[in-house]
Amino acid sequence: MAQQSKNARAGSSTQKVLHSCGGEIKMKSMFSSGKMKHYAECDSCKQQERRPSDFF
Ligand SMILES: [Zn+2]
Repeated sequence: MAQQSKNARAGSSTQKVLHSCGGEIKMKSMFSSGKMKHYAECDSCKQQERRPSDFF
């Protein structure tokens, strides 16, 4: 249980996901039709998907 990545900080909740275009995929949220809608958007090419894993 002592294995830790050199650059990873334990306890950090922010996860960086990079799109194939090189942009950073960020989680966003918007209020629509009375509901909070969460989605992921690429910072570079502005592609939107329901969740980060849908980009791949
Ligand atoms: Zn992209």
